[in-house]
Amino acid sequence: MIRRKIIAANWKMNLTPSEAVDYLQAFLSELCDVDDVEVVLIPPFTALPVLVERSEKSQFIRLGAQNMHWERSGAFTGEISAPMLRALFCKYVILGHSERRRLFGETDELVHRKVLTAYGSGLRPILCVGESLEEREADLLEEVLNRQLRIALDGIELRELAELVVAYEPVWAIGTGLTATPDQAQAAHHYIRSVLSLISDKGTADRIRIQYGGSVKPDNTEELMREPDIDGALVGGASLDPRSFAQIIRATERALK
Ligand code: PEP
Repeated sequence: MIRRKIIAANWKMNLTPSEAVDYLQAFLSELCDVDDVEVVLIPPFTALPVLVERSEKSQFIRLGAQNMHWERSGAFTGEISAPMLRALFCKYVILGHSERRRLFGETDELVHRKVLTAYGSGLRPILCVGESLEEREADLLEEVLNRQLRIALDGIELRELAELVVAYEPVWAIGTGLTATPDQAQAAHHYIRSVLSLISDKGTADRIRIQYGGSVKPDNTEELMREPDIDGALVGGASLDPRSFAQIIRATERALK
């Protein structure tokens, strides 16, 4: 089963709309076309409108959002809904990022509600899962991944599951400069696919793309992307520089050769 690699830039709380315009210009001067890799820019909400206007002609760029509320509308001051993101042509939404779980108290149950709303609104979740350092050291990696996946995906139909993107992001590797080795990442991805296969079936699990996230840089991308169950990357820090993000995409293309 050939899964199209997907490389996404999570800018987190960085870049104003005008900085996003400069970024896109620099990024497109590095990469005018990409065939074999799906590229997703995930800026803060406020930069989405300028990117919608300016990325239209670049067929290979898709847009995503970093978070959303679980309700479609209502009295939730300061929140953004799935229909609002659809109206800005977002195809993807990151759900359950470890920063949301850790800093904003998002539980597995809350992530599940968001997953249901995303599917119900025509958005594809990029569902983040991953263990902390303490959990890895206590040999709880599989238990944590199993729990996060099963709760978040409870009751999702097979047809929808096939469109899911999972991001395996070991918390100890996010923004720390520490990267999981290709063997460590492959083992976790393989386990995630086995859980997905139990939740759905083998055919569906084989279609779900699983990204690796955690200090991905141009010089560690190629070896990670050569692993059989690694289908792309969710890139934080290194995606803030348009040249380094372009190099990560080029390294992914090299891994396909
Ligand atoms: C992330 O926040 O999703 C991430 C992977 O960050 P970084 O690449 O900076 O580790």
